[in-house]
Amino acid sequence: MNINGKTKAVGLIGWPVEHTMSPLIQNAAFEAAGLDYVYIPLAVRPDQLGQAVAGLRSLGFAGVNVTVPHKVNVMDHIDCVQRSAELVGAVNTIVFTDGQATGYNTDMDGFIQSLKNEKVVIKGKKAVLLGAGGAARAVVCGLLEHGANEVLIGARDGQKAQLFAASFAGIGQTIGHSWYDDDFTNSLLECDILVNCTPVGMYPQVNDEVSLVWDKLQPTCVVCDLIYNPATTKFLERARREGHKTVGGAAMLIEQGALAFELWTGISAPRDVMYKKLAEVIAAKR
Ligand code: NAP
Repeated sequence: MNINGKTKAVGLIGWPVEHTMSPLIQNAAFEAAGLDYVYIPLAVRPDQLGQAVAGLRSLGFAGVNVTVPHKVNVMDHIDCVQRSAELVGAVNTIVFTDGQATGYNTDMDGFIQSLKNEKVVIKGKKAVLLGAGGAARAVVCGLLEHGANEVLIGARDGQKAQLFAASFAGIGQTIGHSWYDDDFTNSLLECDILVNCTPVGMYPQVNDEVSLVWDKLQPTCVVCDLIYNPATTKFLERARREGHKTVGGAAMLIEQGALAFELWTGISAPRDVMYKKLAEVIAAKR
């Protein structure tokens, strides 16, 4: 990397940002594409968010990714939000153009692209999600926006799942249940796309697995996990043993990053380089 006076800066704002893999993946992508860009992790305290966004704007940053805990509050400090961010109610990418800051949500589009890569049909299908947090919100919006008939959200806290489901009123058909309820278990019979949106099974707790009544699922159900470390969770291993097609979280991670790269540069992202770098970074963490 040869940083000079013409180098364009992008980065990640979050608190904390020590464990992010994005700088290694994005900088590898810029290098492979021959672009004079640098991606910098920027730790921004929650009470400094407004000043940080103003600073990035005046420093001439081309854009930034936004992570926890700023994804919602950052919307108060930018000029406009694109449809995906408006739907999800959270921004994970900002583009600065001529002093204007526009917010996007590439998590939503990244998840959908990860399904499209595997030719998974969404239109007219029923989906079941495990977990009702920030990532689940992007997944629900993406599925409904791409024509899913219904999304059922199961979480360990049934009341939370119901409130979460109700927050999509006007976007599409959603239902929330405790995942311990019979109604939830029976809903698996009609599920076409099942998505683990909890961190259960994520490194270092790689032997943990969300429990599920697997024999309720139809063999055609596609099983997804948002976790990308490990690339194949115990949950996905089980799904494969049961004969299901699976989609891991690495594809969503790379697709959301590739979409951000493309928004900042206007150039197609070298996804193969990004996948390779992710695999290297995960292997080095072991
Ligand atoms: P979050 O906002 O904290 O939500 C986590 C959800 O999982 C909540 O519903 C939480 O339930 C539930 N949960 C947490 N621990 C649980 C446990 N031990 N048993 C049962 N349920 C549990 O987290 P998030 O940002 O949505 O992230 C969720 C997962 O997605 C993480 O593994 C993250 O790495 C992954 N992710 C991947 C990508 C990607 O690009 N591939 C992007 C974003 C996130 P309570 O509310 O009851 O605590």
